[in-house]
Amino acid sequence: MSSNNNWRPATKLIHSGTSRSQFGETSEALYLTQGYLYDSAEAAEARFKGEEDGYIYSRYGNPTVAMFEERMCEMEGAEDARAMASGMAAMAASIACQAKAGDHIVAAKALFGSCRWVIEALMPQYGVEFTLVDGKDINAWKGAVRPNTNIFFLESPTNPTLELVDIKAVADLAHENDAVLIVDNVFATPMYQRPIELGADIVMYSTTKHIDGQGRCLGGIVLGSEEWINEHLHEYFRHTGPSMSPFNAWNFLKGLETLPVRVTQQTSSAGRIAELLSAQKSISRMIYPGHQSHPQADIAAKQMSGGSTMVAFEVEGGKASAFKFINALETVKISNNLGDAKSLITHPATTTHKNLSDEDREELAISDGMLRLSVGLEDSEDLLEDIQKALDSI
Ligand SMILES: *Cc1c(COP(=O)(O)O)cnc(C)c1O
Repeated sequence: MSSNNNWRPATKLIHSGTSRSQFGETSEALYLTQGYLYDSAEAAEARFKGEEDGYIYSRYGNPTVAMFEERMCEMEGAEDARAMASGMAAMAASIACQAKAGDHIVAAKALFGSCRWVIEALMPQYGVEFTLVDGKDINAWKGAVRPNTNIFFLESPTNPTLELVDIKAVADLAHENDAVLIVDNVFATPMYQRPIELGADIVMYSTTKHIDGQGRCLGGIVLGSEEWINEHLHEYFRHTGPSMSPFNAWNFLKGLETLPVRVTQQTSSAGRIAELLSAQKSISRMIYPGHQSHPQADIAAKQMSGGSTMVAFEVEGGKASAFKFINALETVKISNNLGDAKSLITHPATTTHKNLSDEDREELAISDGMLRLSVGLEDSEDLLEDIQKALDSI
């Protein structure tokens, strides 16, 4: 297997984890198989006993999926990982594999909608309690801790308002209380934020987003220590079956190769769009983690090595103006997805965050005029012109 700890990220994303067949293929092989053969009954017995290395069934492991897991581990600085069928399969597994009746989860309020549902609606069905806090306020995290708290969960930057949570401060608090911290690192991408170095125990991704990067396959991954994975995730993963398809893993391996060039270009365009928006009278609020106007620019500088491919902003005039603006866009398409080569815009209040109560939306500052833009790989000039034209139309 190809591996070198001295490689810089872009090199790791091309070579790490590659395991070649006897044919010496340059590109990673796609092992689209459910099962594996054994040379003898004795060999099958030995493999099932764990006395002999090798694959048994693709629900447990697959060589193409293993290459993807290994490349992600090397990139993230994690000991082990399990790739899954979607980001939500990964998020739900990261919690369900370790939570027991009587446990208590503390999580930030500003989470991807389905992540909130898992914590607020699903886990209580199994007797797991939770408290949601304002992730920006470390005292709120402190105040929420109970003797039975054993899991902390957060996302930073958050969806859609791009708020930041101080990962190191929350990780320290979790460890003082013998809890583990899980970080959803989707918005930052592995390029710009390294939660394990900041103290997080477990990192998860929806690989559907920037890691695919071209809007094709769903996927997710959970990364952590070998000890945590063996104790909690290993058996859960084998027996509940959220495994990633080898085809999707192959696609994500290809996606990782171009992740740095894509994310750098998307961030560069996003920064220019943020500048354009911040100078407009019709924009009442512009939120961009790489901009000096971001209210938590100090935390961005401390824990992120780049801005973001996402820009959030509020159009003066509420829903009517927001709809008029996005309907006037031509190059930027209307979609709730993100991290794609195509620039995509969404109106969170009526789509991704419509299930929140009015109160919750207000608390999270998701107003009727707010829009979330995922910046793609089109020519920056075309994006700037498209946005300016739509702004002029309102
Ligand atoms: C998309 C997303 C998820 C869920 O991932 P899927 O691949 O859609 O299941 C979770 N967290 C964040 C922050 C996301 O953007």
